[in-house]
Amino acid sequence: MVLKKKPAWLHKKVCQKTENYTRVLLKDLELNTVCEEARCPNISECFSNRHATFLIMGDVCTRSCEFCNVKKAKDKNLLKPLDPYEPERVAQAVERLNLSHVVITSPTRDDIFDGGALHFANTIKAIRNLNPNVTIEVLVPDFKGDTDSIKTVIGLNPEIFGHNLETVPRLYAIRKGASFERSLYVLESVKKLSQNVFTKTGIMLGLGETMDELKEVFERLIKINCDFISIGQYLRPSLKNVEVYEYVHPDKFEEIGEIARNFGFKHVESAPYVRSSYNAQKYLSCGRS
Ligand code: SF4
Ligand code: SF4
Repeated sequence: MVLKKKPAWLHKKVCQKTENYTRVLLKDLELNTVCEEARCPNISECFSNRHATFLIMGDVCTRSCEFCNVKKAKDKNLLKPLDPYEPERVAQAVERLNLSHVVITSPTRDDIFDGGALHFANTIKAIRNLNPNVTIEVLVPDFKGDTDSIKTVIGLNPEIFGHNLETVPRLYAIRKGASFERSLYVLESVKKLSQNVFTKTGIMLGLGETMDELKEVFERLIKINCDFISIGQYLRPSLKNVEVYEYVHPDKFEEIGEIARNFGFKHVESAPYVRSSYNAQKYLSCGRS
């Protein structure tokens, strides 16, 4: 089924190119954001509020999820070595944007021995050195389920450790190279390693998932003490990405959000334009209250 027309509730005007302070600063510091690479529909709003989610370790991914617009490493030469000065530049951007909460993510780098865990840790360290009061959220790849890599990141005590499940187990064929069980294991390991870190995940609706499948995912997440969940509409970023199966009505998002809350998450955001890093600071204040 191909849904050609977006419904009225998905009418947000998106301008991926507007020049503003955030965009100029990112260019100046040669930093990537997932906001731009993933063609996030919230970019105009977030950038004008000086919010951005930093994409460290380059803008090329070794996986090829069918819903994602991040460049794929079809040619291994596209993968650049890690830039040892990038953590410092991210720290400077956090300072210049005057952020109180920062979200750091990366493409999956299966070509690096630790998946880039040490680079995440170095980035957290650099941010804290320059911005001691900022709270830090990492949204990490699955590190192929490597516990040592997870430990490396947790060792720097980010306030939130995020890893997105993206969808229900039946639809995992679109997350090539990933497995639902492994992703769940990543989140579970964090809680076993540290009780002080909040865990967070995100899923997209509109890929053909059923309500029963969603409830099963919520149940399994609660069993591993996952604290936060974001639920948003999948929007096809380009024609080469997987088609949208359904545009879920905002009322249904409300209903699903309420179901998730009743399962026991500390904070749930559920609405068509919700992305895991959208209004990210809200989760932490809810988790702490
Ligand atoms: Fe960037 Fe997240 Fe805002 Fe999207 S929601 S523009 S990814 S900060
Ligand atoms: Fe995109 Fe992440 Fe999948 Fe890479 S692993 S293709 S960055 S969603």
